[in-house]
Amino acid sequence: MKVAEVLHMNGGNGDTSYATNSLLQRKVILMTKPITDRAITSLYSNLNNPKTISIADLGCSSGPNTFLAVSGLVKAVDTARKKLRQNSPEFHIYLNDLPSNDFNTIFQSLQKHQEEIKRELGDGSGPCFFNGVPGSFYERLFPTDSLHFVHSSYSLHWLSQVPKGIEDNKGNIYMSASSPPSVIKAYYKQFESDFSTFLKCRSEELVKGGMMVLTTLGRKSEDPSSKDGCHIWELLAMTLNDLVAKGLVEEEKLNSFNIPKYTPSPTEIKVLVEKNGAFTINSLEVSQIYWTEFDNDNISKNNEKNNNGGYNVARCMRAVAEPMLVSHFGEGIMEDVFHRYREIIADSMSKEKTQFINVAVSLIRK
Ligand code: SAH
Repeated sequence: MKVAEVLHMNGGNGDTSYATNSLLQRKVILMTKPITDRAITSLYSNLNNPKTISIADLGCSSGPNTFLAVSGLVKAVDTARKKLRQNSPEFHIYLNDLPSNDFNTIFQSLQKHQEEIKRELGDGSGPCFFNGVPGSFYERLFPTDSLHFVHSSYSLHWLSQVPKGIEDNKGNIYMSASSPPSVIKAYYKQFESDFSTFLKCRSEELVKGGMMVLTTLGRKSEDPSSKDGCHIWELLAMTLNDLVAKGLVEEEKLNSFNIPKYTPSPTEIKVLVEKNGAFTINSLEVSQIYWTEFDNDNISKNNEKNNNGGYNVARCMRAVAEPMLVSHFGEGIMEDVFHRYREIIADSMSKEKTQFINVAVSLIRK
């Protein structure tokens, strides 16, 4: 599987799109807003009345969240500059994602968002120049010393490739309690290599004193195969195993499918940041969202189809995982997969309280 080609969220604005089903990720951006606001406000004060501020959002996807984070950052700078009675800087905003991301939908809604930001900030606020930056954040994306602030939410848990040497992960599609130790190790090694590359690239692109706030899906437990980060994918593996039993999916197809993802613990992040050496850790925080909390939201309450829970969680997972599943198993099986997945998620939610764990780290370029 070539991750850069198949890993993207469902595009457009339709029923199964990421734009329509990214409520969880929206909540996470809003939960971490105090951390990002604090970071960009402190950065702005330290820059001493700058003419421009360059902000990059890495893994911006396509939908309402694409503009939520960056417009929040622009507003925080505007509040800070008004307090300090300074002229507004110009904002250079870079929206990055993999080339297969639906950039067209972003660009088509750009004017609306620009006008919205302008209206909210009022007269005297500097212009926002938006740029799309297609490419992998595991490579250099920007010139040396060109960025002041990097933001990334719910993107860095995606790896650059499925780890090598995990052929023994039969019946699973991610790390699981039943995965052999070699599989768990291979997943960590891939994360270690990818996250280290990410830090190295960003350390070259950020100016001295530049800041970075990264939020990833993660785990509290030090055990990588704990339920914290793996349960949702174990339920998808159960779904696919059910379809194998029904003869709808070949066993071999299931055995050769693995998700290119890793949910790190705060300690793992800390160790790799320290090993890289270019950043000081400003803060490192863990938060959680119960699946039920997010499933009880208005969208699902108001929706007739939501008669037995699991609706939002299953739809969110579909928006995220469908392109990857289609590229491996083909389009024909998707309705069966997501119908059964929702039943299995609903059953799990009726038996235990499960959470999505978020790890947010705020870093300063030394
Ligand atoms: N930040 C948005 C989107 C999160 S979805 C939000 O919070 O809602 C994760 C996004 O990361 C996807 O759009 C995916 O395509 C992108 N992504 C994953 N790996 C990437 C990589 N190596 N380089 C750039 N983007 C990547």
